[in-house]
Amino acid sequence: MVEVFDAETFFAMELITILNHCHHFRGFVYQSTRFDRDENLMEIVIRPRQGSAAICSGCHHPAPGYDHLPERRFEFIPLWGILVFFLYCMRRVNCPTCGILVEDVPWGQGKHQLTKAYMLFLARWARKLSWKETAESFHTSWDKVCDAVEYVVTWGLEHRVLDSIRAIGVDEIQYAKGHKYLTLVYQIEAGVTRLLWVGKERTIESFEGFFTLIGTRLASQIEFVCSDMWEPYLHVIREKCSQALNILDRFHIVAKMNKALDEVRAAEYRRMAQAGYEPVLKKSRWCLLKRPENLTSKQKVRLRDLLRFNLKTVRAYLLKEEFQQLWDYDSPAWAGKFLDQWCSQTMRSRIEPLKKIARTLRQHRELILNYFRAQKLFSSGVVEGLNNKAKVTMRKSYGFRTYRVLELALYHSLAKLPEPEQTHEFF
Ligand SMILES: [Zn+2]
Repeated sequence: MVEVFDAETFFAMELITILNHCHHFRGFVYQSTRFDRDENLMEIVIRPRQGSAAICSGCHHPAPGYDHLPERRFEFIPLWGILVFFLYCMRRVNCPTCGILVEDVPWGQGKHQLTKAYMLFLARWARKLSWKETAESFHTSWDKVCDAVEYVVTWGLEHRVLDSIRAIGVDEIQYAKGHKYLTLVYQIEAGVTRLLWVGKERTIESFEGFFTLIGTRLASQIEFVCSDMWEPYLHVIREKCSQALNILDRFHIVAKMNKALDEVRAAEYRRMAQAGYEPVLKKSRWCLLKRPENLTSKQKVRLRDLLRFNLKTVRAYLLKEEFQQLWDYDSPAWAGKFLDQWCSQTMRSRIEPLKKIARTLRQHRELILNYFRAQKLFSSGVVEGLNNKAKVTMRKSYGFRTYRVLELALYHSLAKLPEPEQTHEFF
């Protein structure tokens, strides 16, 4: 008798050994494997271990069997350029508590076609690459990547710990053409900076959703809230978080100032061009908007020339630059004096866009001074950094079709969510 060495059988056994090593579940066995050369895929049949009861997906307790469903395919992490599928006939249980339900299997989740391990694998890549690139790299579809991210984010949101939030920042972000906004709430403490919440629109209701999520106990412990001057946000902070110091975001004030200056410059430029004057303001935009220390040497020369002219733009520029001194103060009282003096001076300037800012600053004087009362601990730099990341996320994952997908992507890349546990690292 000659014993024939059967390479395929040997390979199948080795494969099962490896699977038992990295993806083993009590109560189930890998029964057989099949490699389909034409389709370039591998099928691995799973069956319940003899005598082990199915787990009810309603109450997660063992329950007596009822029947089983037709074979279902679960996609696993591809190997050596070969797609890998698990085949399994889901059992239905007759649970004394829940009635007739399909069983829970440890490698899958609800109706997801992909195994948990593969979803976690894809979701991790989808944080490094765009979703489209992830789909292409692993020969799968954008929808499956989205599905994977949804699983990981849902798990993460259910399992994250929200306790003792000391400082938050709230900001809006524009996400589509037209005026579509999101409200983003971040935790901004030293050591913990993460996205806590995404809300549709930038209304009172959207920001209130965050406080509904965390509840009154946590809300009452918040000490600092950074925000811009958007009235609906200020309103919600007063209502829900009155004990917290509301700090107006420095970045937004500077941005408003730059916008006003730019308005003055553009209007004056047009006026001068119409009157046939020498175009002294031509290409002056960045000289005026950048901080002097960030100018190139060419721009510095340009700015020096420009400042010789008695122009509205120049006066507005000088007021804007002077305003920057505010941030150097340490004492809220002195900062307040400076602010008052700057506002009076600006109100006399006859430069309407800046006068408008001075009025807004006067109106929000106390909130601006809170920045100094909080010992400048919570500048909006953190919020700004996170918001930039959010913008990158939105850009990188072009192909966002719905608000829901955008929400998932933001949580996925910014919320530092915990991940489903697994016993083996499929790096
Ligand atoms: Zn049950």
